[in-house]
Amino acid sequence: MDSNEVLYDVIVVGAGPSGLAAGLELAKGNASVLILDRKQEIGCPKRCAEGLSNRWFDIMNLKPKPEWAVQEIKGAVLYGPNGKDVKMKSENALGYVLERKMFEKELAINAVKLGAKILLKHQVINAKRENGLVKLEVEVNNEVKEFKGKLVIACDGIDSLIARMLGLNTKNNLNDTDSGYQYEMTGISGYDENCLHLYFGTQVAPRGYIWIFPKREGTANVGIGIGAYVSNETKLNAKEYLDRWIQSQPGLKNGSIIEVNAGGIPVGGFLEKMTADNLLVAGDAGHMVDPIHGGGIGIAMEGGRLAAKNALRALKENDYTDKNLNQYTQEWFDTRGNELKRRLKSRHLLEQLSDDDFNYLAESITMDEALAIGNGTLSKTDMAILFTKKLVKRPGLVAIMMKYFQ
Ligand SMILES: Cc1cc2nc3c(=O)[nH]c(=O)nc-3n(C[C@H](O)[C@H](O)[C@H](O)COP(=O)(O)OP(=O)(O)OC[C@H]3O[C@@H](n4cnc5c(N)ncnc54)[C@H](O)[C@@H]3O)c2cc1C
Repeated sequence: MDSNEVLYDVIVVGAGPSGLAAGLELAKGNASVLILDRKQEIGCPKRCAEGLSNRWFDIMNLKPKPEWAVQEIKGAVLYGPNGKDVKMKSENALGYVLERKMFEKELAINAVKLGAKILLKHQVINAKRENGLVKLEVEVNNEVKEFKGKLVIACDGIDSLIARMLGLNTKNNLNDTDSGYQYEMTGISGYDENCLHLYFGTQVAPRGYIWIFPKREGTANVGIGIGAYVSNETKLNAKEYLDRWIQSQPGLKNGSIIEVNAGGIPVGGFLEKMTADNLLVAGDAGHMVDPIHGGGIGIAMEGGRLAAKNALRALKENDYTDKNLNQYTQEWFDTRGNELKRRLKSRHLLEQLSDDDFNYLAESITMDEALAIGNGTLSKTDMAILFTKKLVKRPGLVAIMMKYFQ
């Protein structure tokens, strides 16, 4: 039978981390599942710096494998606007830089082993409801084919067109979107290869940071994420900021570029609702990204898995209405969304600080305190005590912090 004549329980659009995690969970639950992607190779091009902390391996029950967990990461070095650095390094691995192409292929292989079907070079160009089902129009080699499903999980990344075609507003606003640009470089040196390196400052990366994520000896993802609105104000785009900075780095400027990646990152603007009739949305398409550092691989996988669990429940109940599916939104906020909302608030606070404020904080706050603020794990009272102690000499900063406590 031609694949487009089959009625699938669930069609997942997008074979990135969220779509593959959803597909795997659905196949595990014995649903018939089709995963469509417009790319011609899973995981490629990557649009990602490929960093993933151990926390996500635990949450997703994954064991790092040398084929795709290519660089052990034991810490991070933060560089302030005045060039001073704060280093935090542990004895043990805190996470890995991945070869995402290999990682996602493994997720895909596992999903297919359990019964999922994947079709590449299949671009969904239209989605509509018909007789209680969803009909997708899909462009394949200049032909349009139709696929039907009881449910669709939209995992189509930041563009998030599928959800919008089915009536769910997933538009990103400019203030909560970052513009990312990155080179995979080789023949570079001058940094600790067991650490992530993050560079801050309005001259370096306004409303964002530059990163070096080491991948193997002499090779790293070197990239930048800045507020998407920044270029309007400074007339420099993400690539120009990155190129300028690389030229100022003796260990990098003579390196060779072996891959170029660019992409948007939804860093906030969480959706109040992540379902509609016959539809669930997950991953970047549902704005499931950490608003402080822009990491989304782990959150996307977790979101995809949760969407799939709710899809399995709806299949069992034979009820594909928004009303029934929307339990997923609440579950996502309970497991992850509320934590990310707190982190968004911390980011809004950090955005108000000047380079001088950053330099002052870098010198007065310990790494553990910085991590607690960034992770949103301090209560408001503890934050107030911390800042009252640290900021007595800086009334301007106290005023900014007070706004945060209101
Ligand atoms: C420069 C940059 C660096 C980053 N670095 C990190 C990092 O170090 N660590 C981290 O955790 N996160 C990082 N992120 C974020 C991370 O890449 C994303 O959060 C993650 O990829 C989201 O996964 P996803 O499955 O939701 O979407 P995606 O990975 O974007 O996958 C979406 C898929 O949908 C497919 N698709 C889209 N539209 C259609 C259509 N109409 N029909 C068929 N298929 C379609 C696409 O081809 C794609 O394969 C970075 C992002 C950027 C841009």
